[in-house]
Amino acid sequence: MKTPKKPTPPGSKKPSGGNKKSPLGKMPHFPQGGFWMQLLITLLVFTLLLSIYSSVAGMFTEKEEVSLSQLAADINAGLVSSVEVSGQNLEVTYTQTPTDEPPAEDAESVVKKSKKESEAPFTETLTNYGVTHDALSAVNITIVDPSGFRYWFMTLAPLLIPIVIIVLIIWYLSRQVRGSGMQAFTFGQSKARMISPDDKQQRVLFDDVAGAKEAKEELLEIVDFLRTPKKFIEIGARIPKGVMLMGGPGTGKTLLARAVAGEANVPFFSISGSEFVEMFVGVGASRVRDLFKLAKKVAPAIVFIDEIDAVGRVRGTGVGGGNDEREQTLNQILVEMDGFEPNEKVIVMAATNRPDVLDPALLRPGRFDRRVTIDLPDREGREGILAIHARKKPLHADTDLKVIAERTPGFSGADLANLMNEAAILAARENRKEVTQYDLIRSIEKVMLGPERKSHVLNKKEKEITAYHEAGHALVASVLPYADPVHKISVISRGRAAGYTLKLPFEDRKMQSKREFLDDIAVSLGGYIAEQMVFDDVTTGPSNDLQVLTNLARNMVTRWGMSKKLGTVALAGDDGRALFGAGVQGREYSEKVSAEIDAEVKDIIDDAHKRATEILTKHRKVLDAIAAQLVEKETLERPEFEDLLREHGITPKQKEDIEHAGV
Ligand code: ADP
Ligand code: ZN
Ligand code: MG
Repeated sequence: MKTPKKPTPPGSKKPSGGNKKSPLGKMPHFPQGGFWMQLLITLLVFTLLLSIYSSVAGMFTEKEEVSLSQLAADINAGLVSSVEVSGQNLEVTYTQTPTDEPPAEDAESVVKKSKKESEAPFTETLTNYGVTHDALSAVNITIVDPSGFRYWFMTLAPLLIPIVIIVLIIWYLSRQVRGSGMQAFTFGQSKARMISPDDKQQRVLFDDVAGAKEAKEELLEIVDFLRTPKKFIEIGARIPKGVMLMGGPGTGKTLLARAVAGEANVPFFSISGSEFVEMFVGVGASRVRDLFKLAKKVAPAIVFIDEIDAVGRVRGTGVGGGNDEREQTLNQILVEMDGFEPNEKVIVMAATNRPDVLDPALLRPGRFDRRVTIDLPDREGREGILAIHARKKPLHADTDLKVIAERTPGFSGADLANLMNEAAILAARENRKEVTQYDLIRSIEKVMLGPERKSHVLNKKEKEITAYHEAGHALVASVLPYADPVHKISVISRGRAAGYTLKLPFEDRKMQSKREFLDDIAVSLGGYIAEQMVFDDVTTGPSNDLQVLTNLARNMVTRWGMSKKLGTVALAGDDGRALFGAGVQGREYSEKVSAEIDAEVKDIIDDAHKRATEILTKHRKVLDAIAAQLVEKETLERPEFEDLLREHGITPKQKEDIEHAGV
């Protein structure tokens, strides 16, 4: 069973609205990250040089060499047409090759090379080898200046090319290093984003934020100040410097901050806390300095630091690496805020979903002294949020957003935005032009539990076991007075669960009582007990149930003081992690108390087990009927399920019953 009280659907966390703005002031970017690009360029240059070298050198190397005496004989035989003398080197052009073959008419001239002694002139050498005057005058001799380009190139290239290549490589590398260095020292002007008030498309107003009435009222004051700062300054009022928005993920903190800027018609600078945490110490601090400098220039303005807990955690605990960088960044933020002149007209807003881990220095008066808490939306708020996100989606006449809002307690604004989007996707996939109520209802479950896995087919036996398991949960939930009523039962697997029983409270609630928890534990055990009763065996299916209910029982004892024996003592921190934020701490209680806790947890679970077993034994017939229907239909909606209950003499719970039960 899954009891989704607070759904945190995967992928529902949409990129916060503040992240889509165009970068502010683009820096000329040095090649960075393009390491492979540079390697490629280097290789290309390398091969290019090599091929130039070899083609030039090839003129010399690829030719056949003839000895001087042979050359002399060939000249006498009249086979040579010309000789080019370049220092020691000779380039000999033959009209015919010295073979026995008769020279072809169009025989191409053949070039060979040779060498002479460096001191003696060429003609003298030849006469020494016995070349006749007549033969010699038939040869066209040219002398090339050996200090010519080619000569030098040939001599120096083998030396120079490796040097050039090494220099090139060093140059590239140094450029790369400099590139990343520049990035580090020029504060990512590319990191902070700005929404200018003229950007109508990005502009968000309070009308775009539903619910959150109190938060909006508090923020109205800020808007007022930003609009007409004069009014406040003249009367000598101290204007809040910082506003801390606190609330769970997806409750619309980022959205509200943008709405304040939108309403006040001022530029909105935003940066996320995690973006400060960088490779080099000091970068975060310089970013902060730069960001504030920019904001002051265009004041009045809002600087928004999203997810400030990334930098603003309690300092000096050693938890999280005792990061110097974080401390410096945080200090810089504080320094900037302290340094505001009273009429600076820059307001810092920050958002966090972990106010418990924030450094107390941040919350001191004169800093983030305004704290605005944003809660999960209530029913009305949810309807409003749905309506906002339905604006651009054509809804079919049968849609009733009120019903959807009723069915989505615990959903955050982001979840609801996601729900609307999923519904539109469903409609589009079925080629419809309008979103229907059924699309919306299907999307609730999708957002809550992940997509249905129709492909994950249970075999007959598994299906029967799952049917009894879910029927067990549902039946216990329907009989126990303080358990939430069942909305839907299904044996179609979703996410990791084989089947699920969807229970929803009638009302939103902020608190839960001990009686509710005890019933919840019994409901969670219902699946396990039903399996055991019917099949005399247990599968791995209920392992998640057991984990959840054990945690619940343990929390009742150690955190909420709901145990008579141990009394009203909170033995564990808020996270059940033994107060991690205050440093790693050992258990705060003795072995003896630890044993007592275990015994008490066991008592709670045993008691719930007894009650659930009684219910399932007493109503075994209903259990069989529900399971049979589930095997047949796979999904039972609330009305069908309640009909089944009535047939067997169980009256389904009404809203009033719960209220009268005094919850
Ligand atoms: P947070 O910063 O609190 O995590 P966001 O402000 O980024 O949440 O909200 C995520 C998205 O959820 C928003 O872009 C918006 O579409 C939607 N949303 C959240 N709260 C509301 C609300 N009160 N009204 C309308 N839309 C909302
Ligand atoms: Zn279960
Ligand atoms: Mg956010």
